[in-house]
Amino acid sequence: MPDLSPIPFVKAFLAGDELAYVNQAFSSAAVVGDGPFTARATELVTKLAGGIGSLLTTSCTHALEMTALLLDLEPGDEVIMPSFTFVSTANAYALRGAVPVFVDVRPDTLNLDERQIEAAITDRTKAIVVVHYAGVAVEMDQVLAIAAKYGLAVVEDNAHGLGGSYHGRPLGSLGQMATQSFHGTKNVHCGEGGALVLNDADLLARAEVIREKGTNRSQFFRGQVDKYRWIDIGSSYLPADPLAAFLTAQLERFDEIQAPRVSIWQQYDEALADWADSHGVTRPTVPEGCVHPAHMYYLLMPSHEDQLGLIAHLRERNITAAFHYVPLHSAPAGEKYGRVGPGGCEVTDRVSGELVRLPLFTQLTADEQARVIDGVLSYPL
Ligand SMILES: *Cc1c(COP(=O)(O)O)cnc(C)c1O
Repeated sequence: MPDLSPIPFVKAFLAGDELAYVNQAFSSAAVVGDGPFTARATELVTKLAGGIGSLLTTSCTHALEMTALLLDLEPGDEVIMPSFTFVSTANAYALRGAVPVFVDVRPDTLNLDERQIEAAITDRTKAIVVVHYAGVAVEMDQVLAIAAKYGLAVVEDNAHGLGGSYHGRPLGSLGQMATQSFHGTKNVHCGEGGALVLNDADLLARAEVIREKGTNRSQFFRGQVDKYRWIDIGSSYLPADPLAAFLTAQLERFDEIQAPRVSIWQQYDEALADWADSHGVTRPTVPEGCVHPAHMYYLLMPSHEDQLGLIAHLRERNITAAFHYVPLHSAPAGEKYGRVGPGGCEVTDRVSGELVRLPLFTQLTADEQARVIDGVLSYPL
């Protein structure tokens, strides 16, 4: 009898100390935001992402919303971004009345195509938002040069990329701001959570206010002012300290969470190389100088039928594989609030219909991975 026990696509990992830390947080008086665990987790995030400072948030979505506030976007302002991303990348700016301008991705890394950015810039453009897809860096030297030339801000949506780097510089430290996700499907998680990483002292100071309902409460708690007041627009973006406690337990074991993921990623890539190369299947491209944190392993199938076919073939073996982003530019809200840049989004449309992500999580066993690999190799191409 073949083993048909289910292999999920992702499984949230417990590093060990989460519940003890959560208990500790609840049994202390510090159950609201910005307690001792928030300080610990924040320091670890800043170290990994390489910013001058960071702030824990309730999600990456909220961190993105904070970047939109920090950019002082006004209705009609434009923000250049890929269409091949999660809805929050665009929604955060649309919420401010800004227009997401969708630029195509590169066919190799599936990252924003830096060669098509300049043609999409207008006198309303305020920022470029990049997504390091699968934690593989965007061509940041070119992006930063274009941003400098036109005076634009650069935001990194680094939801996939914590721990990755670009020519030795951590992902998250390259733009003025970066956002992290600690959603249960990400490498490091606390169920729902995120962070905003800042690389500019003025932005950090203002972000602290925006995150605390537009008040200088953080300064008040540090004894820098004698009462706190409403000084800017903002909202409530800080997580309760018990959630930060959970996250601290994960961040402290970052290397232990990562090591199995990296081996699993490499094993997929080696075991599937010959098959992929001889059947018109494309494996992930990792350009020189890019270190990625093994957030996902994907294949680009030769056709849309083969995308659906491989997912169904694995499903018969009780293995869950997944497609990924449905392009934003042709989604109902994308059409309403955004627009497509002059280069179109042809690659986005194609890869969205070809991409299959394989199960990848810290606890995936060698036997389970062997079943996934067998499943892929037995797909009739
Ligand atoms: C997961 C993800 C988000 C949203 O993260 P949340 O923490 O769930 O808000 C945003 N952008 C990208 C690229 C993501 O993968």
